[in-house]
Amino acid sequence: MQDKLTTLKARLAEIEDVIGAADILEWDQLVVMPAAGGPGRSYQYATLQKLAHEMYVTDEMGRLIEDLSAEYAGAPAEDDDAALVRVAARAYKHKTQIPAALVAEMFQAVAFGVGVWATARANNDFALFLPHLERIFDLKRQVAACFTDTESPYDALLDEYEPGMKTSAVRATFAELKAELVPLVAAIAARPPADDSVLRRDYEPKQQLAVAEQVLKTFGFDFTAGRQDLSVHPFCSGLGQRDVRVTTRVSANFLSMCLMGSMHECGHGLYEQGFPEKFARSPLTHAASLGLHESQSRLWENLVGRSRGFWDHFFPTLQAAFPASLGDANAEMVYRAVNRVQPSFIRVEADEVTYNLHTLLRFELEVDLLEGKLAPCDAPAAWNAKVKEYLGLEVPSDKLGVLQDTHWAGGLIAYFPTYTLGNLASVQLFEQAVSDNPTIPGDLSGGRYDTLLGWLRANVHQQGKKYLPNELLTRVTGRPLTAKPYLAYLKRKYTELYNLT
Ligand code: ZN
Repeated sequence: MQDKLTTLKARLAEIEDVIGAADILEWDQLVVMPAAGGPGRSYQYATLQKLAHEMYVTDEMGRLIEDLSAEYAGAPAEDDDAALVRVAARAYKHKTQIPAALVAEMFQAVAFGVGVWATARANNDFALFLPHLERIFDLKRQVAACFTDTESPYDALLDEYEPGMKTSAVRATFAELKAELVPLVAAIAARPPADDSVLRRDYEPKQQLAVAEQVLKTFGFDFTAGRQDLSVHPFCSGLGQRDVRVTTRVSANFLSMCLMGSMHECGHGLYEQGFPEKFARSPLTHAASLGLHESQSRLWENLVGRSRGFWDHFFPTLQAAFPASLGDANAEMVYRAVNRVQPSFIRVEADEVTYNLHTLLRFELEVDLLEGKLAPCDAPAAWNAKVKEYLGLEVPSDKLGVLQDTHWAGGLIAYFPTYTLGNLASVQLFEQAVSDNPTIPGDLSGGRYDTLLGWLRANVHQQGKKYLPNELLTRVTGRPLTAKPYLAYLKRKYTELYNLT
């Protein structure tokens, strides 16, 4: 059996190498490649993806996984080898369940659909995008139908991003959020608006990047095993052992874009840098789920970067970097500005309080689209009605509505809920960290981040992909994902900020 385990590990390591190489091609495309290289690069990328897929779905892999699954059936869940076999078995099942012809059709539809979506969005032309939206949901229904052991077709798609999570659980959590958040947003909207003009003064871009790099270093991001570059849409890419790259973007007249965006990607990067050496070149050297990944970015961006303690400590550094723009400002002004709540049309620009209503409406619409309860041609009207109901806004155009995100065009159905699951998990984990280490709030106000990072390393990062996200949360916090700590955090923070009663 030891031989079989060694062989499986060797095969999986080679697959990880190919995936890592594809990730480097992707990073290169998004950061440094000249635009003209696009078509050639998409062939290279697709070939590596296909190779990795073919290496996974061989008969030999099937036999190895079957034999080892039987062997490790009774092993303790904590055992690294048992976890490896579990993760490999899940991936193998997923990859072999969908017919190759359907996978190829999906790839093609997505490659074409994203281009059409970009044109449709630029021209505010939903009718142009409609046939592709219909095609993608039709193909996704076929993918979902390949999995018969699910309560809802959406379960099969959700499982790819959030292993083990059920649509019914997401629905219940979102219902709880909606009941509390809609009135909270309305109560805040009835108060005098917060002033965030201090963030919209002149900030020299090079200086902003230097400040952001300094923040990343103090949070604990290791620049000997990572780097930060510029890209149009910020992202984080773990490219294999000790090579974790984050990107950011910068605006000369809006401080949050670079600073808060960098903290967000840094949180993703710290997670990737925290996977243990023993999992190198193995499928365990990944996040437990997209939601858990997002919990780490949100924790550093919001629980740390949008806290009063952080600003009390960090403001003098920022003021010294921008004396002309911040000479008359103070920590409290900036704290209030970065926590301004403003119902808006665009998800990626949304604040902590309204953000989850954006993901909630997308979740509700995509479940209905997948289950055939909503026709794609009716999606814009359904979208606009929900924005009116949840955020109190009239959507003026599809560009600011149903056409704003690339996800559906890219075939990423069931991806949106993971953003909110991450928000919820960020507070649940942070509160557990503080309960285990009561010095953390004081440490953060003093600019010391090692207690918090050390706790995250030991409890979350070092586990890699060993456990399903809810198993990991239960092990670490004593319960599966819950909305309660998150809702209590928002109410506490924003009742004080907006003088709510
Ligand atoms: Zn993120």
